[in-house]
Amino acid sequence: MNKPLILQISIPFCVKQCSFCSYPYCTYEPRTVNAYTQALRKEIQGCAGEFDDYKVCAVSIEGGSPALLGADALYHVLMDVKKSFSCSEDVQVSLQTMPGDYSRALMEKMRDAGVNRWIIGLQTARRSEHDLLERPYKYEAITMADMAIRTFDPRSLSFDLLVGIPGQTCRSLEQTLSRCLYYAPEHMTVYPLHLPANCRMEEQIRSGVHPGIDGDCRAELMTFAGNWLTERGFRAYTRCDFAKPGFEDRYRVLSLQGCERLGLGYHSSSWLDGVFWTTGHSLQEYIEHSDDIETIAVDMIRPDEESLSRIYDPLQIRLDS
Ligand code: SF4
Repeated sequence: MNKPLILQISIPFCVKQCSFCSYPYCTYEPRTVNAYTQALRKEIQGCAGEFDDYKVCAVSIEGGSPALLGADALYHVLMDVKKSFSCSEDVQVSLQTMPGDYSRALMEKMRDAGVNRWIIGLQTARRSEHDLLERPYKYEAITMADMAIRTFDPRSLSFDLLVGIPGQTCRSLEQTLSRCLYYAPEHMTVYPLHLPANCRMEEQIRSGVHPGIDGDCRAELMTFAGNWLTERGFRAYTRCDFAKPGFEDRYRVLSLQGCERLGLGYHSSSWLDGVFWTTGHSLQEYIEHSDDIETIAVDMIRPDEESLSRIYDPLQIRLDS
């Protein structure tokens, strides 16, 4: 019987960096993005025949900002996946987006390529909080997502939100949650905001530009969001994920259950045959050697049982409650 496999496809580009970001994103530049697309396709095409014992159950296209690759390039990437891997009939293919990404071309092409789960990285629907996070799209772009959702009615739909933004209150969080619910999403992810050292927001808080983030307040907001969503028919199946029955994020669940994962693209991470590694010491190295795993694999480790139990914490998943 084929073993289950999940694929993480990393698109590490952003047009600018959010104030809270610690992700080593790469600045968007069309020539580099084109070269990256070719390298990524080469890596995926090179997998043909290498994973015949596996069945792909879930694909997560993550950023950065995946839509910066463009609809045609993403389409070809997904077609390469279909040719190189055996996918289960109901494979869940998730695409991370931001409100400013939406266009008819993107939605039609992605639907044709098999994307069946749309994640909107909204973080907040409040302008003041949006400005503070310095998101890489204009606040007004939320109407692009509005239009797309109304026109294409993508199912299933998920929103990513942040909790613990300086100055956020239960009332402002409720306004964001209500705005999302207007689109009848099947899934919501609510992340507590933890600032990495030396991100811009951390510096701004240190210099008194913004109020600090209080841990108790953040916990209270998380509880508020959880109760609010539960009262509206969502079920918490991890500490941060809420879904209508049957709409869980399969990539996330399988990942937390320790399913083997192949990362494709710069900064993706893999977990295969008991070994972890990330991909690419630098973007340039990845672009030049994407089909040579010996060169691009970084920090290969074979974790012991204790480390594994910290990574795959079964308490994070509550599928049967
Ligand atoms: S969109 Fe995500 S990866 Fe890009 S800068 Fe913002 S938080 Fe970082």
